[in-house]
Amino acid sequence: MKRFFFCLFCVIALCCTPFLLFPEGSAAPFWIDIMSTEPVAPSDSIQEAEADVQDAEATEPAGPLAVSQPFDSQVTLRVLVGGEVTEMTVSDYLAGTLAAEMPSDFPMEALKAQAVASRTFALKQAEAEKHTNADICTDTACCQGWTSEVSAEAMARFSQAVAETDGLVVTYGDSLIDATFFSCSGGRTEAAVAVWGSDIPYLQSVESPGEEDAPRYQETVSLDADYFAGLLQEAYPEMNLSGPPRAWFGPFTRTDGGGIGTVFIGGVCVEGTALRRLLSLRSTDIDISVTEDSVQITTAGFGHRVGMSQYGARAMAESGADFEEILLHYYSGTEIKKLLCRSAEQ
Ligand SMILES: [Zn+2]
Repeated sequence: MKRFFFCLFCVIALCCTPFLLFPEGSAAPFWIDIMSTEPVAPSDSIQEAEADVQDAEATEPAGPLAVSQPFDSQVTLRVLVGGEVTEMTVSDYLAGTLAAEMPSDFPMEALKAQAVASRTFALKQAEAEKHTNADICTDTACCQGWTSEVSAEAMARFSQAVAETDGLVVTYGDSLIDATFFSCSGGRTEAAVAVWGSDIPYLQSVESPGEEDAPRYQETVSLDADYFAGLLQEAYPEMNLSGPPRAWFGPFTRTDGGGIGTVFIGGVCVEGTALRRLLSLRSTDIDISVTEDSVQITTAGFGHRVGMSQYGARAMAESGADFEEILLHYYSGTEIKKLLCRSAEQ
């Protein structure tokens, strides 16, 4: 069984890694992959980056860690698919993830950005041991999607995007980032602190133009006033929703990303994220208007809006940006590094 150790330390630290991760008596695998990283300058092409890595390897001392191999085809992940754990290479896993997460007709640079984001996301989940018997699952509400049910032509494009970004990940400092992504933002992404309460330096609010033709860019729903009042009062019994709907709504705040931070409804302060969950809204970027007997809610964007916008990535690619520029735009202050797979046994 091929399993991997993830580490962003130097080669010396890597030599100790098997003993740190597999204490005496535990079930250490007979085959061990160890990874290291080499920085990739944002303006470098992949070919240049690989040449840089090869140059670096030439100066490394000979020994059991000196041989580098392609990463994605050598490292395997335990993937929880339909309730069963399936072991597959990172290559196969990522191609299936792209198939589930991004349309095949998106520009290749957008697909490559998604491949790097998904690789980073998956390895981060595995590193955190989110699941006990698997490195990652295929539930989009928990990890990220995966499917093999696409045409051969589409899968070929996904596989190309994965192959052309082999081993590339997004890092902040010496750590993998939480490479969150979503469908479309409505024009500006949201900072992590506004959605999850934690201020993450590389998940800040950034512009995301060019998404207007995304299918879920904007939506208006009209809710019957009594239905709206019933839902809100069930969640907030202290809420006073007597009188006409125009009297229900009070002051509100906006986040950096244009979402509702908080809004007073019936005298109760409600967080935008809570309102989104309660009403199953597409995003927290909410505008509210009322009639005598209804509440109309217009949302912009689709998803949590934190991290990389997939339709924003498409727009950037169509404007000539490469995948590195896309990733570095959406993940503030990060670097793109290349993981190399090194066999400890030769
Ligand atoms: Zn999961």
